[in-house]
Amino acid sequence: RSKDAGGGVFHAYEPKLHVAAEERRVLEIALREAVDKGEMHLTYQPVVDAGTGRLTGFEALLRWTHPEFGNVSPAKFIPLAEDARLIAPIGEWVLRSACQEAARWDDTVRVAVNVSAEQLHNPAFAKFVAQALTQSGLPPQRLELEVTESVFMHEGTMAVKVLEKILDMGVRLSLDDFGTGYSSLGYLSRTRFSSIKIDRSFVQGASKGEQEAIAIIRAVVALAQSLGMATTAEGVETEEEHHLVQALGCSKVQGYYFGRPLPVNEARALAIRGPGGAIAAA
Ligand code: C2E
Ligand code: MG
Ligand code: MG
Ligand code: MG
Repeated sequence: RSKDAGGGVFHAYEPKLHVAAEERRVLEIALREAVDKGEMHLTYQPVVDAGTGRLTGFEALLRWTHPEFGNVSPAKFIPLAEDARLIAPIGEWVLRSACQEAARWDDTVRVAVNVSAEQLHNPAFAKFVAQALTQSGLPPQRLELEVTESVFMHEGTMAVKVLEKILDMGVRLSLDDFGTGYSSLGYLSRTRFSSIKIDRSFVQGASKGEQEAIAIIRAVVALAQSLGMATTAEGVETEEEHHLVQALGCSKVQGYYFGRPLPVNEARALAIRGPGGAIAAA
């Protein structure tokens, strides 16, 4: 470290940065073997019809329990897996597992799987989705892929071609975390999304009475309706928030109020009870 380096100069040996880089390196190495070592599992969070309170599906959410580090948050390891080019093999495992599980559920219950932009830059991804469906026997209409706006940034043309192939199979597509990315609305009208998921930050803002957040939810609902798409409010934690997003016209709701991400057996018990017996809101 040079003595005369001035302020604002990046020091590779600055202790905090060193720890962060070391942690990344260690986690990345562990991540390479996590699937094979059986350290990954899926949880399933209920998605509910806002009007009837009936279960419409589950979102598969990945969990990593390392024997030494314990539970590592997806907010930490997903970006790491993306950077280290590990998201493709991990994502394949997620897709295969989620389809296999959902094939056991009632035929009214869908499964949503998160897909990173990186996975869609591989032309073989469409074939992989087709394989996961045939091997599990899950009808394509019961699989929903969740992508974020980032898919349409940079060289998004490959991603769009891959998405088109997947949509042609009958798989549904939803736009996750809407409103948090850099949106050019063009792709919204060009891509056949079934639903737009309104990010939790807007739901939170609206429930605190922020007029801007309320205006944004209203606008997204109107936009989705005019494009023939549903809207799902994410992160609904209270009865008041449920009533609010319902009044604002959201068609589906998801959040701790309706259920945390559940272990596979608990989700299965709800998913094979039939739509009539599923979670009643409140
Ligand atoms: P996401 O797809 O937007 O998933 C919703 C996140 O919000 C989940 O966090 C969920 O546990 C959390 N959540 C749900 N309801 C509530 C609520 O009422 N209150 C609060 N505070 N949070 C709620 P999680 O499981 O930590 O996942 C974080 C993100 O990691 C996901 O955001 C998704 O982008 C990514 N992710 C998770 N699993 C996968 C995966 O299998 N593949 C990929 N590519 N990404 C994944
Ligand atoms: Mg999601
Ligand atoms: Mg989301
Ligand atoms: Mg998110």
